[in-house]
Amino acid sequence: MELNRPLTKRICCIGAGYVGGPTCAVIAQQNPHIEVTVVDLDEVRIAQWRSSNLPIFEPGLSAIVEVTRDGTDGRQPNLFFSTAISAAIQQADIIFIAVNTPTKRMGVGAGSASDLGYVESAARMIANAAPADKIIVEKSTVPCGTAERLRSIFASLAPARSFSILSNPEFLAEGTAIKDLLNPDRVLIGSLKDDRSMSAARELASVYSWVPHDRVVHTNLYSSELAKLAANCLLAQRISSINSLSAICEATGADISEVANAVSLDQRIGRHMLKASAGFGGSCFKKDVLSLVYIAESLHLYDVANYWRAVNSINEHQKSRFTSRVISALHGTLLRKKITIFGWAYKKNTGDTRESASISVAAQLLAEGCELAVYDPQVSTNAQQIYRDLEDIGTNIRERVRVWDNAVDACVDACAVLILTEWDHFKTDMLADTSTLPENCTAASSDSGIDMLDDGLDLPTAKSVVHDAFN
Ligand code: NAD
Repeated sequence: MELNRPLTKRICCIGAGYVGGPTCAVIAQQNPHIEVTVVDLDEVRIAQWRSSNLPIFEPGLSAIVEVTRDGTDGRQPNLFFSTAISAAIQQADIIFIAVNTPTKRMGVGAGSASDLGYVESAARMIANAAPADKIIVEKSTVPCGTAERLRSIFASLAPARSFSILSNPEFLAEGTAIKDLLNPDRVLIGSLKDDRSMSAARELASVYSWVPHDRVVHTNLYSSELAKLAANCLLAQRISSINSLSAICEATGADISEVANAVSLDQRIGRHMLKASAGFGGSCFKKDVLSLVYIAESLHLYDVANYWRAVNSINEHQKSRFTSRVISALHGTLLRKKITIFGWAYKKNTGDTRESASISVAAQLLAEGCELAVYDPQVSTNAQQIYRDLEDIGTNIRERVRVWDNAVDACVDACAVLILTEWDHFKTDMLADTSTLPENCTAASSDSGIDMLDDGLDLPTAKSVVHDAFN
């Protein structure tokens, strides 16, 4: 790696979240000659990015930030975090928009359409602050046609300047973000086909200097925008497909692990994302499926919309099914019983709890009158997050939910221990030594993704361990 080479390019990234932070850290690490500034309106988040206590947990991230931000290995720092948004925009050659695109809460399309308000506000900031033409990169996941909307915002607010708008959706997965960024399956760049846009696309491609050329895929803008949505929807669909089959397994005596293994041996199907579970979570899958449903509906493709809507319906169904099985294993009532939840993050190796299955399951269990103990290797240190996640449920949540910083204490007096996030720690430290669990575990087993403690507990597929205090 070249050290102390003069800076040749400046990138500004609007949005210092799960995408903006790790993506820019890796770009800065791989391109010592590019100065990367990540900006955000959220002063607390930026202060955390500047500290040793980063706002997000991602394996490998802090080491990269230390080197690029602080220059700890003697190289010139080239990663900066700031709330001075206009200044960063003014100086940048390339501007990434990596802001949140949640589901709209009100107005036309509420409950399904993507809220593009944050994207638009970032575009307005750029139009107001950029002194000259810039390359604008959509990193956020957006409905197809968003680049066109950006173009019309720039045309009305900054008619004298001509911005090149590119789509470059991010495919990283939380928990493996650094690995995904360093070794991406593909980097997708969508652009118009005119010379100026193609030259901008080449300039953006040069930022991904470490990615083999054949993994950089160029498409038109619409294809790039839709391909990102499509990828997430297909991944969510696969999870819902295997979960729907787990319900049939339970009713028939088939074993979902055996079924999944058998079908995965077909090379056309493969083995990824075929593990039954309590349902998918995270900030993306549900809202991206909803976004696709909205797009289909607005194109009057109602059968298509219904097809994708079912992916989310099955996901909700699976979470309820999980809770029902727990209630049934505990003799039909949870009143005054203590249940322990292992895992609050929506997946392992992240502290992100957005749309975590644990939240829905906890809410349904609490509605049955139980008390909860929660332990998560990452999230327990931030108990307030867990209470915030449950704040819609009722006023006495803090009396009925206790957050523990270790798994063993969390299990004391519990009549059920539910594993809702597949942290390796649960498999290797906790379940490998079942003496750490409460005594008298029942031998309840199921053929679904909701495996309960059995004589030969299948740790990799175990989703729930039930200790029945009344057995
Ligand atoms: P996030 O909520 O973690 O971060 C977004 C950040 O943007 C926030 O810190 C917010 O304060 C900031 N922001 C919003 N409007 C702003 C503005 N006008 N100026 C400055 N800052 C502003 O979101 P995220 O998880 O990083 O996702 C960002 C986008 O990337 C979304 O479209 C998402 O769908 C997509 N995406 C997410 C993931 C993921 O795993 N989280 C993966 C791929 C793609």
